[in-house]
Amino acid sequence: MKYDYLIIGAGFAGSVMAERLASQQNKKVLVVEKRNHIAGNAYDEYDEHGILVHRYGPHIFHTNSKKVFEYLSLFTEWIPYEHKVLAKFNNELYPIPINRITLNKLYNKNFKSEKEVENFYNSVKEKRHPILNSEDIIVNQVGHDLFEKFFRYYTKKQWEMEPRELSPSVCGRIPVRTNDDCRYFTDKYQFMPKEGYIKMFEKMLSHKNIEIVLNTDYKKVIEDIKFDKMIYTGPIDYFFDYQFGKLPYRSIRFEWETLDLEFYQETAQVNYTGPEVAFTRIIEHKYLSGQKAIKTTISKEYPNSNGEPFYPIPNVSSQTLYNQYKKESEKIKNVIFTGRLAEYKYYNMDQVVAQTLNQFRKLATT
Ligand code: FAD
Ligand code: UDP
Repeated sequence: MKYDYLIIGAGFAGSVMAERLASQQNKKVLVVEKRNHIAGNAYDEYDEHGILVHRYGPHIFHTNSKKVFEYLSLFTEWIPYEHKVLAKFNNELYPIPINRITLNKLYNKNFKSEKEVENFYNSVKEKRHPILNSEDIIVNQVGHDLFEKFFRYYTKKQWEMEPRELSPSVCGRIPVRTNDDCRYFTDKYQFMPKEGYIKMFEKMLSHKNIEIVLNTDYKKVIEDIKFDKMIYTGPIDYFFDYQFGKLPYRSIRFEWETLDLEFYQETAQVNYTGPEVAFTRIIEHKYLSGQKAIKTTISKEYPNSNGEPFYPIPNVSSQTLYNQYKKESEKIKNVIFTGRLAEYKYYNMDQVVAQTLNQFRKLATT
């Protein structure tokens, strides 16, 4: 049997590509996935207590792209969900992103208008020009004290680096607000798949032209597979046998606990922004699905550098190393590198879907 496409990885990048190739072009596709399940890091499942949990950290779907939303809607119904995060600092809870409520509580102020908040930021911010790193981008907006309380130690725990060693795009993911909006995201479409990510992926991949092999590193089987083209969504350095050295990735160890309580915390996510605990955040999974249950499951996230690769590290040295791999990848004509690991980009899910749909369009027109 010869396949038109061999796809490595069954996360968003691999699965969207497999679905498009099979359904739109009648291509025969083989998906090889190293883990024992599809859906990549978006994988969710019911734990032994019957609670739907996100095994690799909370995955909140948010996008401004109608195209991405409509595409995924072919495979799932949705429930509305707007993510809210609190930061725990010195044993008190504050809304994050920083907003008017955060400031009023932290500094015992009574700012009523957005103008007053804006004036406050103007009085504390430190001008940085140009903005070169993740410290610059925050202190340039809110000054040093808020940076220390909400960004510095969380970032050190997450990345094992000072914010000044990371590109501005990392802490720049978090906006700064002058109003009372406590939502983590403000995108137009904010939903969760009604029956979980796993059902959405099952539907996406249930096409007669798609075969899936789980529990298999592609390097172990590639010699035995006949195919025309490959779509590669794994780590790019692994593809090239680390020939220029290993790219750094961050990982997370999850510590799971199920409690005999209806709820453990006030919201789905509490960020521990001080140095006194080693974990970054606690997720209470019930909030993500709106599930009703008498127990609740929480996970604590302990970042590390040697587990499953979850996060590319956006800074100058890793980008330089990645560029060497990218150059090499451009020489290989029958392999397309796509997704968060293969492009070494801190993509959200919707960005991976958008990028993969674009790649598919290019393929379909060449
Ligand atoms: P992946 O999901 O990593 O899929 C790649 C697949 O390739 C994996 O299944 C892997 O096992 C497989 N693979 C790797 N090497 C091999 C090999 N040698 N052989 C065979 N298979 C291989 N995005 C959001 O939009 N909202 C969020 O709230 C959000 N939260 C996140 C929280 C965490 C903790 C993390 C880590 C990510 C989060 N993301 C979130 C990002 C989201 O997970 C990614 O954008 C998306 O899952 C990337 O899809 P992908 O297919 O590129 O990669
Ligand atoms: N961040 C922080 N404090 C917070 C939230 C975020 O310092 O309370 C920084 C931190 O460096 C983090 C980055 O902003 O890695 C991006 O945060 P996001 O919540 O987007 O991270 P993700 O959900 O992708 O892990």
